[in-house]
Amino acid sequence: MFLPWVRRGLRTGIVTTRYPAVPEPPVEGFRGRPVLDAERCGAGEGCRACTEVCLPQALTARSDKDRRMEHITLDYTRCIMCGLCVTACPTGALSMSANYELAASRRADLVQNVTLVYESQSVDEARR
Ligand code: SF4
Ligand code: SF4
Repeated sequence: MFLPWVRRGLRTGIVTTRYPAVPEPPVEGFRGRPVLDAERCGAGEGCRACTEVCLPQALTARSDKDRRMEHITLDYTRCIMCGLCVTACPTGALSMSANYELAASRRADLVQNVTLVYESQSVDEARR
């Protein structure tokens, strides 16, 4: 049953890929996990373009007006890597990376929390 596979391996010298020891380069145009650059994000000016187009609600935003904060959450467990948020973002804060390695032992490791603080005009990005 597996003889053809063995014969092919012996003929070509290729039995399998060496991933993950040698990462496979993604093909051109591959969409890996999206990343959010907090420095360029306009959520503080009321932008919600990315959350409005994100169908699986992987991107959500919450305002804390009292503390002049905006919280944006990017949940990779919901993301389908469609790229719609990147197209919708007016500031270029979102981009699709080539990172396809999404394995994690804790769900929290697959959630990017970004907090924009406007009191000090600084941006604090926290990842869990
Ligand atoms: S890539 Fe698609 S699913 Fe993922 S956060 Fe962006 S809009 Fe949502
Ligand atoms: S669309 Fe871009 S600028 Fe607007 S909230 Fe999302 S990441 Fe920030």
